[in-house]
Amino acid sequence: MDAAATMPVGAQPGAFTAPDAPDLDALRACVHCGICLPQCPTYLVLGEEMDSPRGRLYLMRAAAEGRIGLSDVFAHHLDLCLGCRACESACPSGVPFGSLLEATRAQFERRAPARTSSRLARFALSVFPEPGRLGALLAPLRLYQRSGLQSLARRSGLFDHFPRIAALDALLPIVPTASPLPERVAAHGTPRGRVALLIGCVQRHLYPGVNRDTARLLALAGWDVVIPSGQGCCGALDLHAGGLETFRTRARTLASSFPEDVDFVVTNAAGCGSAMKEYGHWLPDDADVVAFAARTRDVSELLATADLPLGPVDVTATYHDACHLAHGQRIRREPRALLERIPGLRLVDLPESELCCGSAGIYNLVQPDMADRLLARKLEHIAGTRARVVVAGNPGCLLQIAKGARARGLDLEVLHPVELLARSVEAHERRGAVR
Ligand code: SF4
Ligand code: SF4
Repeated sequence: MDAAATMPVGAQPGAFTAPDAPDLDALRACVHCGICLPQCPTYLVLGEEMDSPRGRLYLMRAAAEGRIGLSDVFAHHLDLCLGCRACESACPSGVPFGSLLEATRAQFERRAPARTSSRLARFALSVFPEPGRLGALLAPLRLYQRSGLQSLARRSGLFDHFPRIAALDALLPIVPTASPLPERVAAHGTPRGRVALLIGCVQRHLYPGVNRDTARLLALAGWDVVIPSGQGCCGALDLHAGGLETFRTRARTLASSFPEDVDFVVTNAAGCGSAMKEYGHWLPDDADVVAFAARTRDVSELLATADLPLGPVDVTATYHDACHLAHGQRIRREPRALLERIPGLRLVDLPESELCCGSAGIYNLVQPDMADRLLARKLEHIAGTRARVVVAGNPGCLLQIAKGARARGLDLEVLHPVELLARSVEAHERRGAVR
């Protein structure tokens, strides 16, 4: 509903304008009960009402009702929000915090003057969702790592005066050599259907093995897998930053680059899957995009019921819930059930497993202090489990937790669930080979 339409006579016009003004009815659905507060990472760390979901909703509603404008203070509290949507999972009133946040950020993005934190954000948003550009950037970084320059630069203290560059450098894993995927992986046995795989932007360049394992496992589960060439970005980062028009363009382009005659579109990146499943909310009149969204599944949803040939993996592992899998897609059981099926694997509970690790898209680059505090909390819990492997279904979480583990010298592997499953399949095959 347009805020202006509900304005009392004599009141100030609301600070939000069409299109995409945050829904005033949804803002008013918050009954200020505070149940969400203990689930909010920024509230847990700062203890400030305005850095809680309730406080942020209060600010959004005040702006919608014309009591405040799009001020720097308002922007600051929104900037600190991770968009993790833990508050949505907790809220008994069903307040759709994620879409309200995205719509409010879009208002700032469109109308407020440039803000100080936005330069690095704009750089990241111009590179990460562009697979070609990201690949071109990573090629010299591969050389920078392999030549020893990275170690030299870190030891010399070169980055001490550039904390955001240092944050970017610390996040960078060993950049793998590019190896393209085939356009089709045939199902083992009689196909049960046909799926199309999203290979992501960060995932395809930094974790190509995750895509390879995903395609292989889906094929073992009986799916014919197509991997459309030329597929671009899902737009998740733009959506979270309030770049709604760019997000819509990316959504339309991505949907049109996938075949329509597949049973499912599969993703192994929680952030991508969450954004894709919400295409219908932002593009309700585009039937093709709505149908594409309805076909989207996380890989764990398809593998959960599959009959996979699994062999023993003798390891203690713990599972971190990626926010956009647990809160964005309400997927918690399937990845755990998959891991529990691996013979020999001991799955131990991770305290606060649903609390954000601080990655949150590009949050760890633009809000490094809060991100590091959340990462420290996450690593403390992981170390407490004594697990040798931590598992998470999102590349951002993998990068963030691996960065923290490296910095602390922890003996910890950080893996996507499909990587552990693929190891288990390989163990099964090795057993078969020696018989
Ligand atoms: S999205 Fe996450 S950080 Fe933002 S208010 Fe909700 S729980 Fe807090
Ligand atoms: S739990 Fe829901 S209704 Fe209660 S304060 Fe949080 S957002 Fe508002």
